[in-house]
Amino acid sequence: MAPSVSLAGQKKVINCFHANIGVCNGCDLEVLNLFTSFLLNKQHLDIQLVRSAKNADILLATGSLSRTVVKKVRELKESIPANKTIVAIGTCAIDGGPWRKSFNIVGGIDKVLNVNCFVPGCPPTPDAILQGLELAFGTKKKQFVSHLYKEK
Ligand code: SF4
Repeated sequence: MAPSVSLAGQKKVINCFHANIGVCNGCDLEVLNLFTSFLLNKQHLDIQLVRSAKNADILLATGSLSRTVVKKVRELKESIPANKTIVAIGTCAIDGGPWRKSFNIVGGIDKVLNVNCFVPGCPPTPDAILQGLELAFGTKKKQFVSHLYKEK
């Protein structure tokens, strides 16, 4: 089956760093799913997870922004180049998701990070995350619509 999106044509391997900001880990599992079993079927896509945010091409962020982690996320922001491509994955990362009315939630990660692309879903599928990566590389500040995500 042909892939619905393709990062083929990129001249080098795209390095991605995954930052778990908090909450339920459902999105984290889908990110791992993307970089493990899902990609086994799409081996022509040259993307991989790396350990260093500084050297990554894309920062993938999951989870909502709580008061507890704001300082750490600011430190993360200061440790990476200002033009780093950042993808917010899941409704928590977009606006706090199911926890948005909690006393401890500040909102989505764009309160601190300069997000290039938002991937809706709770959690989004690996395919949706892959589309988000493609959008982030192709178009800045673009958000696509999913039937899983409803605007407030
Ligand atoms: S968006 Fe949904 S699956 Fe992802 S971390 Fe939030 S609650 Fe969990």
